[in-house]
Amino acid sequence: MNPTIVFYILIGIILFKYFFDTYLDYLNAKHFNDPIPLELEGIYNEEEYKKSQAYKKENHKFSTIVSGFSVLITVLFFIFDGFAFVDTIVRSISNNQIIITLLFFGIIVFASDLIALPFSYYKTFVIEEKYGFNKSTLKTFIFDKIKGWLMMVIIGGGILALITWFYQATTNSFWLYSWALIAVFTIFMNLFYSKLIVPIFNKQTPLEAGDLKTAIENFSKKVGFKIDNIFVIDGSKRSTKANAYFSGFGAQKRITLYDTLINDLETDEIVAVLAHEIGHYKKKHIIYNLVLSLLLMGVTLYILSLLIRNSVLSQALGVEQPSFHIGLIAFTILYSPISEITGFFMNILSRKFEYQADNYAKYNFNENALISALKKLSKNSLSNLTPNSLYVKFHYSHPSLLQRILNLKK
Ligand SMILES: [Zn+2]
Repeated sequence: MNPTIVFYILIGIILFKYFFDTYLDYLNAKHFNDPIPLELEGIYNEEEYKKSQAYKKENHKFSTIVSGFSVLITVLFFIFDGFAFVDTIVRSISNNQIIITLLFFGIIVFASDLIALPFSYYKTFVIEEKYGFNKSTLKTFIFDKIKGWLMMVIIGGGILALITWFYQATTNSFWLYSWALIAVFTIFMNLFYSKLIVPIFNKQTPLEAGDLKTAIENFSKKVGFKIDNIFVIDGSKRSTKANAYFSGFGAQKRITLYDTLINDLETDEIVAVLAHEIGHYKKKHIIYNLVLSLLLMGVTLYILSLLIRNSVLSQALGVEQPSFHIGLIAFTILYSPISEITGFFMNILSRKFEYQADNYAKYNFNENALISALKKLSKNSLSNLTPNSLYVKFHYSHPSLLQRILNLKK
């Protein structure tokens, strides 16, 4: 195929995704002023509802500007052969393909992160601040950025270097080695994320003895769920928004509660949230998700291995000499419609799992406690109570609050 045609296909994919997402956002925004469904009445009073609408609108306006700006920069970068420009720079620095790949992606990723920095600052310190969510200081914000970059260099750089090396050493079967590497890394992270990565950003302390701990232990005993690791994380360091999650498996499984969750919810509401999380574990959702995403990764890497050596990919981006890093960029964009589709189905599965976990909490604990917990969590994060159904299908990993409550009341 002619490189020029491939170039226009790449631009076409980027623009299509942009217009499609913008259309979904627009559909969603049309429902910002919908009347609140009967089942959700009483979550907000008049003033809070006004505030939640203002929050939705402000975020919508902000993301419209950010995505428009980002697609503009991307397309300009393509038109003015930005990748070829960066490729020339890194080739003047080194002849080693691994170093070339690392520098190439280092420059691209670091530069796009720098461009995004003012937006992320605005989101945290202007929008979230205005609605009373932000608890982050400028110091925390800066250190988060620096830590994030260091981790990207060490972990991202390490994996990328190994994959490039596999490609050099084995060419056709590099995808198999890369797949094995990513599988081992993903499983390792699933097990040790809370122990190794979370402490870099947050403080975690074991849940203190008291009513809550007793209630949690009573419930876990009742459903035959052995858990020794219940931790409280200082989420309030950054935001007032609350959360709880489950991680790891086997001896490494642990439950993490945000301190904000403990402040906002009553004991039985917290146990209901935990019952939901335990439901995920009992129904093996964590294992299914892990296996499925690894299978998808294998397919993606295999298709990558079929296309990566094709010089048309590099030429489409204005680079004559076919190379791993340029091929990888072109492939990522060519493949993005497929990953959008698999993402769509993964979201369907995820929402199905959420219903199952809700049902687990309903049958093993108490649906009313979960309903009031979900309502409080929505209220305290000024959630959108009237999302558009198509928007939910594409973007929501959880069913909407209304769908969840209707299911729990069934
Ligand atoms: Zn869940």
